[in-house]
Amino acid sequence: MTDTHKKKPDRSLSDAEWRQRLTDEQYRVLRHKGTERSFVGECVDTKSGGIYRCAGCGEPLFSSATKFDSGSGWPSFWEPVGTDSVVMRVDLSHGMRRTEAECGHCGSHLGHVFPDGPKPTGERYCVNSISLALDPDDAGGRDADGE
Ligand SMILES: [Zn+2]
Repeated sequence: MTDTHKKKPDRSLSDAEWRQRLTDEQYRVLRHKGTERSFVGECVDTKSGGIYRCAGCGEPLFSSATKFDSGSGWPSFWEPVGTDSVVMRVDLSHGMRRTEAECGHCGSHLGHVFPDGPKPTGERYCVNSISLALDPDDAGGRDADGE
């Protein structure tokens, strides 16, 4: 390995580097596919407009425009912001066959995707709050409740 790149791609960060970058709880969820308890996450009931970014690398993942209240206790979205922003994998852990969602940029675990979401996609991206960082639309601190 040569050291020609100033900044390593996030995908190749070492375990120790991830530990430094994340809180203990984020590290557990994002890097070891943990799941936070339902209804405790900061983003569950958030109605603010903005972009939800990956807590691991800061890349945009979901828009508040595609967030909906699924009643699951985790932030839920029906579509990621871009086709490459979220990558899906088959997850056979816990004796179930589920679709895991991970960040397309850094590979951090985000949550799972279920086929019972609302139109138009019919998909439900069930994401751990701790995997997300909301980047609000306007920095004025106002409530974005203009419906
Ligand atoms: Zn990421």
